[in-house]
Amino acid sequence: MSTYNTLKGVHDIVPPDVFVWNKIERTARDLFYIFGYDEIKIPVIESTEIFTRSIGQSTDIVGKEMYTFTDKGGRSITLRPEGTAPVVRCYVENALNRRPAPQKFYYMGPMFRYERPQKGRLRQFYQIGAECFAAAGPESDADMLFLINNFFEKLKVPHLRLEINSIGCKVCRPAYNAALSMFFSQKEEFLCGDCKTRLTKNPLRILDCKVESCCVLRNGSPLIIDFLCEHCKSHHDRLRELLYNLGISFDDNPLIVRGLDYYTRTTFEFTTEHLGAQKAVAAGGRYDSLVEEFGGPATPAIGFALGMERLVELMKLFEPHTNAPFFYFAVLGEEPLNIALSLAIRLMDKNISSTCGEWKISLKSHMKRASSLNAKYAVMLGTEEIQKGMATWKRLSDGTQDEINIHDVAAFTKLYEQGRA
Ligand code: ATP
Ligand code: MG
Repeated sequence: MSTYNTLKGVHDIVPPDVFVWNKIERTARDLFYIFGYDEIKIPVIESTEIFTRSIGQSTDIVGKEMYTFTDKGGRSITLRPEGTAPVVRCYVENALNRRPAPQKFYYMGPMFRYERPQKGRLRQFYQIGAECFAAAGPESDADMLFLINNFFEKLKVPHLRLEINSIGCKVCRPAYNAALSMFFSQKEEFLCGDCKTRLTKNPLRILDCKVESCCVLRNGSPLIIDFLCEHCKSHHDRLRELLYNLGISFDDNPLIVRGLDYYTRTTFEFTTEHLGAQKAVAAGGRYDSLVEEFGGPATPAIGFALGMERLVELMKLFEPHTNAPFFYFAVLGEEPLNIALSLAIRLMDKNISSTCGEWKISLKSHMKRASSLNAKYAVMLGTEEIQKGMATWKRLSDGTQDEINIHDVAAFTKLYEQGRA
């Protein structure tokens, strides 16, 4: 039992999870580069107001989940619960709108929400997120969904379900909210405490409530699709068409309203059936008036964020990840060790990982180490092999073995390529 432990709902990220973690980050960076997104690093602390005004008082995040404290100068500070509001603040403050449109940014880092800790629900969790500014058309929505889809494909994440919806705009949402208010006021006595408040403040939020009894009450509620104005409707129809054309499968889900107030029109979630109750792996939507609310020029925008811990858990279910060396050199003697080291350097140059054992241990101990390190191949190198210029390799998964010229890096590279295939 250690003297000190992490706080409740807060985790260290250690091997082997960190290997999966880094693979996700590498893949994301590569893809963001291809899609023209630049990284921005936003602070972990911000003025509380940035979140209360944008995310909305009647949401779970602002209502109960924020880590807010008063600093020594008497200012109200909040540990960021999400990335979009800080990115918008950064966009306006740094006049990033002066860059050629559309301006595309991504971020990675920890977020903080005071939630009841459980599997897939933490108090400090990590997100990778992206925002695309000065992007009004449904093509930008499709572009972002294409990027996320591509990202999951590259990571070989098994089928995720994409659900989309439109929550309208300033023009059409008031009528929908009024219809929801009428619908739910007839069932007011059965609503949870929060939803009773939402009924007057923001009835749309009732659709997002996770309380079982409220979920049941949603049956038969009015649907946003019947209330969308002409512009919102054609935006949504075009997005659906673009997704069909791009071969991205999706489902319409009128309940995807997202737990933040700043969204307009398109909202979406990527969900999985493999993680139990915490289904959403990535989520996002369009927020066409947020930049203006933050004092910037009118700038339509869209963004998403994915939960790292949930994605790591999902990937671990399907692919064991380790930082295993590809070749393990079982060296029997000092000279074999020198040869193996120079071979390892030449392989490293070709991005092939290898490791050398100590030269004083027995072949049996070498083989034990190679397998506990999860190496793909063990290469046995003794003085006799050096004289012949040939060594024996063994594939640890099935015991297949053969000889290889110890000076022929191309032969090792070929073995590597075969082993990866
Ligand atoms: P949920 O409905 O699960 O509470 P959310 O709507 O609050 O999610 P977002 O604000 O959309 O979540 O955040 C985007 C992603 O971040 C989520 O899809 C999820 O993968 C992840 N996420 C959100 N909250 C947590 C948390 N407390 N712990 C771990 N991951 C989280
Ligand atoms: Mg939440």
